[in-house]
Amino acid sequence: MIRDMNINDITEDKLFGPNDMVKLGVDDCNGCHACCLDTGDTLNLDPYDVFRLEAGLGLGFSNILPNHLELRVADGLIMPFLKMDKELTIKCHETEVKETSACSFLNSEGRCDIHEHRPAICRLFPLGRIYMGDGHKYLLMEDECKKDRHVKVKIKKWLNTENFAKYEEYVDHWHALVKSVTSRAKEMDEQALKSINMLILQTFYFTDYDVSRDFYEQFYERCKKM
Ligand code: SF4
Ligand code: SF4
Repeated sequence: MIRDMNINDITEDKLFGPNDMVKLGVDDCNGCHACCLDTGDTLNLDPYDVFRLEAGLGLGFSNILPNHLELRVADGLIMPFLKMDKELTIKCHETEVKETSACSFLNSEGRCDIHEHRPAICRLFPLGRIYMGDGHKYLLMEDECKKDRHVKVKIKKWLNTENFAKYEEYVDHWHALVKSVTSRAKEMDEQALKSINMLILQTFYFTDYDVSRDFYEQFYERCKKM
């Protein structure tokens, strides 16, 4: 999950930590599905997202991939992104709207079929993450949500993720690994870049997780192997 934002354009007052209260709450998205359409290169999945999907759907990555995900290159790194080519008619409040570039998990009521195990970037919205030094902060992207968000919620609660401290540590670890490849991708020859991409895909995505075990243990075991 890497949002390409220029840190120089962001002032300190727009950045938040996990214990900050931020205007995130909206009564309901009812009637709106704007952020589940044609999201381009923003909705990629990290290994924890894949672990949650595998656990929630009871399927391995290779079985989820064909219908719901697509492998795309971002900054030289191949990663799975949510597929955004679903055609469907959404019925809501007695109106019908036809969509042609919807997320594969959006249903005909304009709702997310995998709400409980949707990827982190969907759970974060309308927050984004900004990586600074060895860690990260949260940025409220006020203009990206179509509704007025007026209820203050603690970021930690908003993310609703088990073992939050471990999760934050993992997020930084994963980002460092991704950054170590993307920052050198342009200098690498084609074969070397292909090899490292295959290694990352095989290690963190195509090898199914044991969903009865702790994710973080498995992640760090795989990091060591790499
Ligand atoms: S996974 Fe769910 S919340 Fe995320 S874009 Fe798809 S439908 Fe929307
Ligand atoms: S744009 Fe805002 S209100 Fe609309 S679906 Fe996304 S989060 Fe909900």
